[in-house]
Amino acid sequence: MAVSADVNGQVETVVDLEAIAHNVGVLRAHAGDAAVMVVVKADGYNHGAVEVARAALAAGAAELGVTTIEEAVELRAAGIEAPILCWLNVCDADYAAAVAADIEIGISSPEQLVAVAAAARELGRRAIVTLKVDTGLNRNGVDPLVYPRVLADLRKLVDEDIVRFRAIFSHLAHADEPYNPVIDRQRDRFLEAIATAKEYGLEPELVHLANSAATLTRPDLAFDMVRPGIAVYGLTPVPDIGEFDLRPAMTFQAEVALVKEVAAGEGVSYGHEWIAPADTTVALIPAGYADGVFRTLGNRMEVWVAGRRRPNRGRVCMDQLVVDLGDNSDGVVEGDAAILFGPGTRGEPRAQDWADLLGTIHYEVVCAPRGRVHRRYRGGTR
Ligand SMILES: *Cc1c(COP(=O)(O)O)cnc(C)c1O
Repeated sequence: MAVSADVNGQVETVVDLEAIAHNVGVLRAHAGDAAVMVVVKADGYNHGAVEVARAALAAGAAELGVTTIEEAVELRAAGIEAPILCWLNVCDADYAAAVAADIEIGISSPEQLVAVAAAARELGRRAIVTLKVDTGLNRNGVDPLVYPRVLADLRKLVDEDIVRFRAIFSHLAHADEPYNPVIDRQRDRFLEAIATAKEYGLEPELVHLANSAATLTRPDLAFDMVRPGIAVYGLTPVPDIGEFDLRPAMTFQAEVALVKEVAAGEGVSYGHEWIAPADTTVALIPAGYADGVFRTLGNRMEVWVAGRRRPNRGRVCMDQLVVDLGDNSDGVVEGDAAILFGPGTRGEPRAQDWADLLGTIHYEVVCAPRGRVHRRYRGGTR
């Protein structure tokens, strides 16, 4: 349909870089003397890794964290010189690319350390290595059973000047429940892992454990650095505990593509799951599940148009959805902004509202906009 093809260019996320900078300030205040590593994995939680990284560093973040070497190298290629750690690597990962770009490599197994050392030797350049220890999340990280072997191997590589040993870190399983005893068990195991490394003569330059939730609720776990992700984007990791003055950075919006009348008794959208009980006016929003509007939100979500929330009627389709304007006394016209979710300051739905409806977390909601959705930045130091 020509109409929706034209307006799909206006389906966008707007990322507020001033909000990012503000949130980094909030996190720095909670971190106390600890440095802040801002996590920009998954393209900055779908906010744009490079732009978020620049804004966060300008606001006083010290380091960056990502998942893959590819993500790390992309930040370097954009001219970012801050330390970058990547922590989820497969055995045939491009370690040479990481070493060449001075990327700090998180090690989870003896095999990974061997592969990193081989890349460093081949390049004639020291690899920067950080140990990710598994203290109970049982996901990635060095298994306690092979930890002594990793330490012995690392000791040799440090002595041979093949590797610079930078840090030890771990990740919490229950950080969103600040009083869960598992957190303290993980802290004890973490301290033990650091002590064991020292027995091998391996003194880390720094150690870190806290994600967003721990940064905000467990200042005793700040160690030398905190590692927040979601809070940088303005979303509280502990909605039941507080908002911590965080400002959501992402607004997901489109333009009203069409305004039309629907007569009483007419069904709207596929399957006619909604039948107009009375004559009404509807607005067509050119965003659908291909753009990251979850189909299961159909008939349940609201969209902010011209100053208020409007109920979605009928199914969310691949490219479009319909909202009810009633008698359209607000005079909504084609081209008006339709906010799917945003910070909530105008009364629009927030990512948290979508998460509540979907039975998921806002992390997944902000990762959803994709494909045709353009990204635009507001504010910041670009
Ligand atoms: C994603 C991630 C973080 C950030 O977690 P948030 O809950 O978003 O603050 C920190 N550390 C590691 C290892 C991660 O994978």
